[in-house]
Formats: sequence, structure tokens, C-alpha cells
Amino acid sequence: MRLGKIIKGSLAIALLSTVLLGAGGKTHWGYTGHEGPANWGDLAADYSLCKSGKSQSPININSEVTVESEGLEKIGFDYSTGISSVINNGHTIQVNFDEGSSITIDGIKFPLVQLHFHTPSENQINGKEFPLEGHFVHATKDGSLAVIGLMFEDGAENPFIKKVWAKMPRQAGGKEALSIPASEVNALLPKEKEYYRFNGSLTTPPCSEGVRWLVLKSYSTISKAQTKEFLDVFHHANNRPVQPINARKVIK
Ligand SMILES: [Zn+2]
Repeated sequence: MRLGKIIKGSLAIALLSTVLLGAGGKTHWGYTGHEGPANWGDLAADYSLCKSGKSQSPININSEVTVESEGLEKIGFDYSTGISSVINNGHTIQVNFDEGSSITIDGIKFPLVQLHFHTPSENQINGKEFPLEGHFVHATKDGSLAVIGLMFEDGAENPFIKKVWAKMPRQAGGKEALSIPASEVNALLPKEKEYYRFNGSLTTPPCSEGVRWLVLKSYSTISKAQTKEFLDVFHHANNRPVQPINARKVIK
């Protein structure tokens, strides 16, 4: 019992540092070649869930896996603090929030930690891949995670993205000051906040499970030039391929 608690505690801390630093596990991994997604589960013992997990993310949200619900509870958004920095962790561009913002779901308050991006999208909707997906990562002190996925479709230039891209460090490990107020974060979110919900994992090593996934049904937009600008920093896609749904269902 005691040992179990200690192990659980250290796992939670490892998970939290993964989320806070955005860097993932200690062993080097990437999106191409030997270090790519197909091999993550073999790169390190603590990445084994990437291969053996049964509730992995991302997924293709289609009619075969979704079930109607009586009505999902509304996500309790309280984004009242802004962004203060932007980092390049070698895998993505991540903006960090000042403490004080949160969502409430299942009666649990999940503090907002960071927002980062994948191109193309990781999750798919009815097999559709989007040019960009943003992940708002929320974590409680004990390591429970809730991630909101926001899709960006081809369209108008996005003023929020424009601010982030203008300051994004081009070198891995880079960090820049970036001030974006809460009002502009809220403006980035679609007015309509209906969502798909499922159990999943981190989409990067160590692929830890037990993550509450909430993918918004309404999208934002990004221009083709903005997507290219992000790709030019990493030179390749940074999305994990969709994973088997197994016994899970997506609630809509
Ligand atoms: Zn992500």
C-alpha cells in the first residue's frame, strides 16, 4: 500500500514534469526514422505504454466509435490569466500560462498549464486531418490531466497564431517572453463549445494513460502561410498517427 502510494506519487510527478516542461520523457525521441512513433515503445522501458497501451491517443473520431449521450456537461471554462512565454522544446511550440486559469469537469478543477501545437492534427474527425491542432493541457497537483483539442482548418490568417509565431524560438530549447492577455485566449476559442469526449493518453512519450480528452466540435482557422511557417521551424510533421480505439467509445 505504502510502496504503491510512493510509486503512484513518483509517476504523477514524472507526468507533471512532462507536461510542465513539455519535453516528454528523458530518452530522446522524435517523429522521423528510428526515433519515430512506430518505435517509441521500444526506445525506453518507461515508454512501453506507447506500444502496449489500450487507451492511446490520438484517435479518429468517426461514427463507428461515437455514441450519443444525454448531453455532456458543459466544460466550466475560467481562462482569466494570460500567456507570459513561448518555448520550442524540440518537439513543438508551447505557450505557458500564468497561474490562475482552469476548467472544471466532473466536479474537478483542472488548472491550465500550457498550450502547444501539432501539424497536421493528431486527432481526426470522420477521417479528416486538419492543418493544425492545439492542445490546451490542464493538470491537477496530483497529476490528473485534461486536454482540450482545438482544430484549425484552412482559412483566414489567425491573429492569435500570428502573435505566437512572431515570437516562437527557431532553436530547440529556446524561450522568449510573449505577452497575450486572457481576452485574446478566450477569443481564440470558438463560441460554441460542444465537444467529443474520450479516455486517452499523452500523444508523446511516455504515452501515459488516464487523460481526459475533450475535442471541440467547432474549429478555428489558420492560413496556409501560417501552417508553412510552423512547418519551416521543425522541417517535418509533429503528429503521432491515430491509434486503435479498442474498447473505448467517444461520447458526443
Ligand atoms: Zn499535444
